[in-house]
Amino acid sequence: MSLLSPDDPSPFRIENPNGRAPILLVSDHDSNRIPAGLKQLGLPDDELARHIAYDPGIARIGRRLAERFDAPMIATGYSRLVVDCNRVPFTPGSIPAVSDGTTVPGNEALDDSARQVRYDALFTPYHAAITQHLDQVIAAGTRPLVVALHSFTPQLRAGGGDRPWHIGFLWGADDRATAPMIDLFARLNPDAVVGANQPYSGGSPEGYTVPVHAERRGLHNITPEFRQDLVSTPEGADIWAERFGDALAALLEQGLPG
Ligand SMILES: [Zn+2]
Repeated sequence: MSLLSPDDPSPFRIENPNGRAPILLVSDHDSNRIPAGLKQLGLPDDELARHIAYDPGIARIGRRLAERFDAPMIATGYSRLVVDCNRVPFTPGSIPAVSDGTTVPGNEALDDSARQVRYDALFTPYHAAITQHLDQVIAAGTRPLVVALHSFTPQLRAGGGDRPWHIGFLWGADDRATAPMIDLFARLNPDAVVGANQPYSGGSPEGYTVPVHAERRGLHNITPEFRQDLVSTPEGADIWAERFGDALAALLEQGLPG
């Protein structure tokens, strides 16, 4: 049984594959698209516009950064509600039946074989594309900085209060690039409220993309989290892409620590 019909687009997209920057941009939550056969997972349009379905603002920020730095970018083509490509398969957040207070009818009562269909169609091709790209550029002599782009909701429906940070930087096992990036960003943007491993920690065992593709290979990595109310308009996304890009340019200029 296949998840994608001929009219559904590819499970991922690669922009600027031959970009020359020593950077790989990855976007795990780029799109809120649902394969046609899944009938919106039983959700109305307004739920698919929420942060539970994707990371608002990030597709545009990614394009801006790919252009500015001449960097390749690999992005998912489908909603995290179908499969969250930044979660370990078969863990509860991977194909959520409930997300931030919203029940996802199309994800209730899935058995392992139904989950496997989603992994085979979406998760596996996306991560294989990242693996293949990294294998190629590393074989050619470049060890790229992996930049994992995300955005976060200013407030969860499920509670927890306001999140005051304008941008957060997450890290897990390796903060070699993140620590100087936080300093540079704060110095260049003295009015910004910058979170260090906020609004959540990058060290959580649920995360997949950075541990698997960057940490295991010993690649430098940075995970910025942009607050969604600041980046959900094109103008806002452009402003924050520029701010992040200015700090990233300064980091590359000063050189990544070994
Ligand atoms: Zn995200």
